[in-house]
Amino acid sequence: MATHHTKMLIIGSGPAGYSAAIYAARAMLEPIVVQGLQPGGQLTITTDVENYPGFRDVVQGPWLMQEMQAQAEHVGTRMMWDTIVSVDLENGPPFRAIGDSGDEYIGETLVICTGAQAKWLGAPGEMELGGKGVSACATCDGFFYRGKKVAVIGGGNTAVEEALYLTNHSDDVTLIHRRDSLRAEKILQERLFNNPKISVLWNKAVESFEAGENGMLHHLALTDTATGEASTIKVDGAFVAIGHAPATELFKGKLSMDDSGYLLTEPGTPKTVIPGVFAAGDVTDHVYRQAVTAAGMGCMAALDGERFLAARAHSAVAEQAEAAE
Ligand code: FAD
Ligand code: NAP
Repeated sequence: MATHHTKMLIIGSGPAGYSAAIYAARAMLEPIVVQGLQPGGQLTITTDVENYPGFRDVVQGPWLMQEMQAQAEHVGTRMMWDTIVSVDLENGPPFRAIGDSGDEYIGETLVICTGAQAKWLGAPGEMELGGKGVSACATCDGFFYRGKKVAVIGGGNTAVEEALYLTNHSDDVTLIHRRDSLRAEKILQERLFNNPKISVLWNKAVESFEAGENGMLHHLALTDTATGEASTIKVDGAFVAIGHAPATELFKGKLSMDDSGYLLTEPGTPKTVIPGVFAAGDVTDHVYRQAVTAAGMGCMAALDGERFLAARAHSAVAEQAEAAE
């Protein structure tokens, strides 16, 4: 068991964590990134990424994250393959975190970039066909279904927004919901019902995602939740939109969160209620949830962290000068 000290401790290794690390390392803060169970974050479980700026051609998610990690290491970030299991924010700064390995991490500042995970149905074929027709992000993958038939599963705001977004690419969008009414806001429901490209299948649960001969998604097997009747729907793409879960268990009772568990920050900044503790990326963002927005917030957190440390150093010098007088 070892103790690691740093001016900036970053928890999480997605686009937010790596971007924070790149900026912190270049500001000589000798950052440590604790990578967690998914080094590289959510983009490591996707294939084609076509909307991250800087690449004319499609790039692969895992490759993009390897490059981000290499860039962060190249400028001086220490990577730790560990998962934080507890944090002490009350007695900081410095802030203490304990890893699954038993190692202790002490940071003058803390940047939380633990992300959020899409919730999945857990139905057969769902995971196997991920990136082969099944997705949890229409903004990310909708483009690949131009002119094709797609379904969205869910009945909340996310599902309705995903369905509406998909009509930019497809003329045949089906919303599949397990009940006979939506929980999405009325205004979104109105837009959905008025859109001729969208139809709704009520009272249907997806039992399985089935592949065709080419190994890509071919159809969904459904059960009527009212009658028990079985049916199928042929689709090229299926977007599971039943909610996201931010990885904020560690911070319960320690930082402010909204009803869904997303960390709250001062509007327009990554500052949490505790000075020196910042939150960036999907862990604080239920609206945009994109790699580029996460990376931007990581950059902002590192810059604010640097300013926080500079202000503290300035106050310490002023106090020393006053004491000497
Ligand atoms: P994440 O990428 O979620 O990373 C979170 C990190 O925190 C992980 O490294 C994890 O290991 C770590 N962590 C969690 N808990 C702990 C802990 N206790 N201790 C240490 N570490 C911890 N966006 C796009 O812009 N374009 C796309 O094409 C695109 N495609 C996508 C496809 C899929 C299938 C998915 C799921 C998402 C896609 N997204 C896409 C969204 C994008 O991946 C996310 O918006 C982005 O990854 C969020 O970055 P983040 O750094 O906030 O968090
Ligand atoms: P949500 O409101 O929790 O809705 C999840 C939907 O998925 C519900 O309709 C639910 O069905 C369905 N569902 C859940 N588990 C399921 C399962 N196992 N099988 C089938 N269906 C299942 O989640 P969300 O839509 O992601 O929204 C989360 C929060 O973010 C909400 O507070 C929402 O208002 C907010 N949000 C806001 C906006 C916006 O303001 N524009 C956009 C997106 C999200 P039931 O209805 O039967 O429970």
